[in-house]
Amino acid sequence: MAKKVTINKELCIGCGACTGICPNVFAIGDDGKAGVIGEADDDASIDEAAAGCPVGAIEAK
Ligand code: SF4
Repeated sequence: MAKKVTINKELCIGCGACTGICPNVFAIGDDGKAGVIGEADDDASIDEAAAGCPVGAIEAK
C-alpha cells in the first residue's frame, strides 16, 4: 500500500520541488502552498520528494 502523505502547510514555502518530482501527488494550491491531490504510485518517489523538500514539510508514512 502506498504511503500516506501529509504536508505541513506552516512550513511549506511553495517552492514547487515536490510537484516536479510527483506531479500526480502534489500541486500548489490557491494558498501558494503544496497540497496532496492524489495517491503515490510508488513510495520511492514520495521518499524522494520528502527528502527534496527544503523545509522538511512533507511527511510520508
Ligand atoms: S517541496 Fe516542500 S516547501 Fe516546496 S512546495 Fe513541496 S512541500 Fe512546499
